[in-house]
Amino acid sequence: MSNTICAISTAQGNGGIGIVRMSGKDCFEILNKIFIPKNSSKEIKGYTIKYGKIVDKDVFIDEVLVSYFVAPKSFTKENMCEINTHGGMVVERKILELCLKNGADLAEPGEFTKRAFLNGRIDLSQAEAVMDLINSKTEKESKESAKQLEGSLSKKIENIEQKLFNTITAIEVTVDYPEYDIEEVANRDAVKELQDIKVDLDKLKNSFNQGKLLKNGIDTVILGKPNAGKSSLLNALLKEDRAIVSNIEGTTRDTIEEQLNVNGILLNLVDTAGIRETENEIEKIGVKKAKKLANEAELIIALFDKSRKFDDEDEEIVKIIEDKNTIIIINKNDIDEENKELEEKLSQTGKPIIKVSAITGEGIEELYSKIEEMFKLNEISENNEIIITNERHKNQIQKAINSVSQAIDSLEVETPVDISAIYIKQALEDLGEITGRNISEDIINEIFKNFCLGK
Ligand code: GDP
Repeated sequence: MSNTICAISTAQGNGGIGIVRMSGKDCFEILNKIFIPKNSSKEIKGYTIKYGKIVDKDVFIDEVLVSYFVAPKSFTKENMCEINTHGGMVVERKILELCLKNGADLAEPGEFTKRAFLNGRIDLSQAEAVMDLINSKTEKESKESAKQLEGSLSKKIENIEQKLFNTITAIEVTVDYPEYDIEEVANRDAVKELQDIKVDLDKLKNSFNQGKLLKNGIDTVILGKPNAGKSSLLNALLKEDRAIVSNIEGTTRDTIEEQLNVNGILLNLVDTAGIRETENEIEKIGVKKAKKLANEAELIIALFDKSRKFDDEDEEIVKIIEDKNTIIIINKNDIDEENKELEEKLSQTGKPIIKVSAITGEGIEELYSKIEEMFKLNEISENNEIIITNERHKNQIQKAINSVSQAIDSLEVETPVDISAIYIKQALEDLGEITGRNISEDIINEIFKNFCLGK
């Protein structure tokens, strides 16, 4: 990996500053050809900034600041520099071109972070955390990514790996010293140790239920017959006029999708066409889609209209939500008249019911609290437990759990300890793929392919 790479590291578009980044052994040599520092000193020191101008031979391009990082004290552990330009696309591209013309190669997506990983500055889970941090949409999510970037997950995995090593050592001793009658005791201890490890791993794996919510949000569908107030509720939730509100039935023909931040967790909201039998072709598609979305949703907000009788359309919705994670809303609660029949029918569903007025905003806070309670959102990031947010990590942990279970089983039926040791070693390999201790080049390339350019 001797080539020097460069890329524009700031987002596309005009900004106060733009950064062109270079990393590799020839980085300062290339820089020297295009940068004239104001202070003519040629000395290069890490963690310093020089002021000067970028030139294309004699032509002045921009006034810049250049930060220097000398290997190994840089993000990639290679020589690096960051050219802070005036953030215009043309200027940034021009400087990038100059770097390329003078010997640098265009970096692949995520290549800086990949080098940081390959050169041992961070492990794979930390590299993935960099990406997650960049992509975070809520504070809670970014806090979790930052924790992993600091190495919290890596430490936890290393800790479990150490316990697995110890177990292998303990049972292998019995192979080396068969004359001592220690095998039975060693095996019993090993089973106990492995069971403890399995508990740790299970806990980590289960944290993905919340980690997934942190990362992807909760897919939420709002259901209700036409005119129940779905669009109005969506607007009340979003506090803006996003969906068209009208009292002509069937205005929401397609779906409207929005994201809403509920105390740090995203609700991916979909407002659907009213569930009802209809002759209108366009609406028919909407109704079908609504049923399909409800099937896939993690949360259904089912809306019922206090001002109208409970009818077949409502019955249809009650059927759809039967075994689904649902919060029922009786909307239009600002209307004084009671609707006992509706309340009775809905209470038979056993689902939580909240009385709301999409117009006055009454009950909206209660809805938020219910969602928090349902998904245990308060617990996320409140304690310092590690939360798995990456599906790849979860899958590796699952593999390790399987391997540990097999090791336990084989120790319990007293198969030769070598066999158990093989399973434990497999668990170590499964975990090693999280931190990247042992991982194939293909997987590495697959992971970094999804990074953004310049990172
Ligand atoms: P959708 O077809 O389910 O999306 O229903 P809309 O949001 O378009 O609302 C249908 C009608 O009900 C409109 O005239 C709204 O103003 C009215 N509406 C919606 N929510 C409320 C509410 O909480 N109280 C009252 N009084 N009217 C409401």
